[in-house]
Amino acid sequence: MPGCNYTGPHFGAHYDDATCIDGYLWDLDSGEDGMLSSGGDMPCPACNLERWVAEAAEEAHNGALNSHLEDDEPYRWLSRVLLSPLMRRLHGTKALEHAGKAGLLNVPWYGDEGTDVHDDPLARIAWPWPLPDTCIAALTAHERLAMEHALSGVPAPEGFVPDAQGRLLGPLRPADL
Ligand SMILES: [Zn+2]
Repeated sequence: MPGCNYTGPHFGAHYDDATCIDGYLWDLDSGEDGMLSSGGDMPCPACNLERWVAEAAEEAHNGALNSHLEDDEPYRWLSRVLLSPLMRRLHGTKALEHAGKAGLLNVPWYGDEGTDVHDDPLARIAWPWPLPDTCIAALTAHERLAMEHALSGVPAPEGFVPDAQGRLLGPLRPADL
C-alpha cells in the first residue's frame, strides 16, 4: 500500500490534523515522543481510493438498513460523499465511477409508499439512480458524460424490476428486512 503526503482535517480539528501513513490516516495530535498513537483505521482519500470508496459504500449500506443517515436517502448520501468537494479536488469523478465499476452502488435503498423520492409517483427509485441536484450542478458537462458512461454498464441492484416504460425501479421495501 502506498503512502503519500496527504494531510487534511479528519479528526475533528479545523486545521489539517490527519496525515497519511501507508494508505491510512493518523491523528497528528495524538501520541508522544514523535510516535502517533491514534489512527490507522480511516483509508486515505488521496492514495487509498479503492478502500475509501468501499468503506463509504459500506456506511451507506449500513445506513440504509439502520436509518442512521439522518435526513437523507442512502443513495443521495453516497452520491454526495463520493462527489464531495474533497473527492472532486483529489480525483474528479473517479470515486463514483470506481464505485460503479466495482459494483458498490448496490445500496439497498428504497422508498416507502408515500415517500417523496424524486417525484416518482410510486416513490420508487429508478436505476441508474438520479444524482442529487447539488452534485449535478457541481459537475462539468464532460464529467457528467464520464459518469453516465461509468454507470451505464452497472447492473441494477437486486430486486429492481422494469416498469411499463422500461425504467428499472427499486423495490418498495428491501427484501431482507
Ligand atoms: Zn495517502
